[in-house]
Amino acid sequence: MTKKLYWQDSHLTNFTATVVDRFVIDGRTAVILDQTAFYPLGGGQPSDRGVLAERIVEDVTIDDQERILHWLGGDTGPVPGQIVTGQLDWIRRRELTQQHTAQHILSQAFFQLFGAETAGFRITERDTEIDLVLDVPPDQLPRMICEAEDLANTIVFDNRPIRFHELTPAEASSLPLRKESFVADCVRVVEIADFDWSPCGGTHSTATGEVGLIVVRSSERAKRMVRLHFLAGMRALADFRTVNGITESIARRLSVGRDEIDLAIDRLQDDSKQLLKRNRELNQVAAEIEASRLVDSTTLAASGYRLVVKVLDDRDFDEMKILVHHLVAHQGVLALLATRHEATARLVFARSADLDIDVNVLMKKAVDRLGGRGGGRPDFAQGGGEDHPDLASLLAALAIC
Ligand SMILES: [Zn+2]
Repeated sequence: MTKKLYWQDSHLTNFTATVVDRFVIDGRTAVILDQTAFYPLGGGQPSDRGVLAERIVEDVTIDDQERILHWLGGDTGPVPGQIVTGQLDWIRRRELTQQHTAQHILSQAFFQLFGAETAGFRITERDTEIDLVLDVPPDQLPRMICEAEDLANTIVFDNRPIRFHELTPAEASSLPLRKESFVADCVRVVEIADFDWSPCGGTHSTATGEVGLIVVRSSERAKRMVRLHFLAGMRALADFRTVNGITESIARRLSVGRDEIDLAIDRLQDDSKQLLKRNRELNQVAAEIEASRLVDSTTLAASGYRLVVKVLDDRDFDEMKILVHHLVAHQGVLALLATRHEATARLVFARSADLDIDVNVLMKKAVDRLGGRGGGRPDFAQGGGEDHPDLASLLAALAIC
């Protein structure tokens, strides 16, 4: 078993230790020391980083014999019996410790206020998640989160001392411990003065003020559980800067104050709806005019109808359908339209009511040639397939066959 220096002093960053064992697995060297300040992955908390014997520590894990493995890149490293020094990446340790201690505070806040127990917790690279046993209507949750945030941050601003106790299980059982226990060795108890007692083997601040601001960023509800994503300390500051930058940018682009963004977006959405409505009306007018011009530009075939063949590159398919309906509103028109986008072609065929031509049959022939699918009624059909280098000629040939 490796002595856990981080249990006595979570602020210890430089230490000396003796190498107990060393082995190589998959090209990586694992070094076991008699004692260490490096926290290993576990209990919802990621492992520390830093330098050991002048080598980068890529990961730290703990095995089932409570030995802490310091993983170094490469197949060389200090040998058993060698005295080595280690230096922790303190910025990372402090950030993780802030999140972890914040979890104790936030979990107790939800328990005191709403009787919600914490069923799980994980610190990820992005934020920290806690799973609360809490069955609550969605409209109540934002208020409850605010109340818990208020209580949690009050505990932070109180700067209450945090103490650590290594107790026998019997001693620990007499304390008002929160139910969850994320480590097997639950004799180590973390006390936040007059607020929370929790069995835990992680790294913690020594006073609540070190944790900094605690903010819940988002929540998800599922099966009588609530998952919260929260940030504390430096992570909360980084998130504030990001969100503040986005807010400033939106306000500037909308030419309004920050407090007026909501109203400005409401106005934009209203304007957008009006414009879309007007755009639809104008599309109908444009399609009617375009259809008349197309019909006028075609000559009456000997077969007694006007053939309109048109390939409209990158035309919206719905707009093309509007156009084809205006075309066949004229008498004696057979309309074979296509639009191309990248390597595909989409087709819409229609004919006037006074013609006795089955455009569905023409569509089947067309999609056979294009390796696609399509169909419809005798007077209207649509389909698509691969693009063709001379799509207009292919369509025109259909009408002649
Ligand atoms: Zn803890």
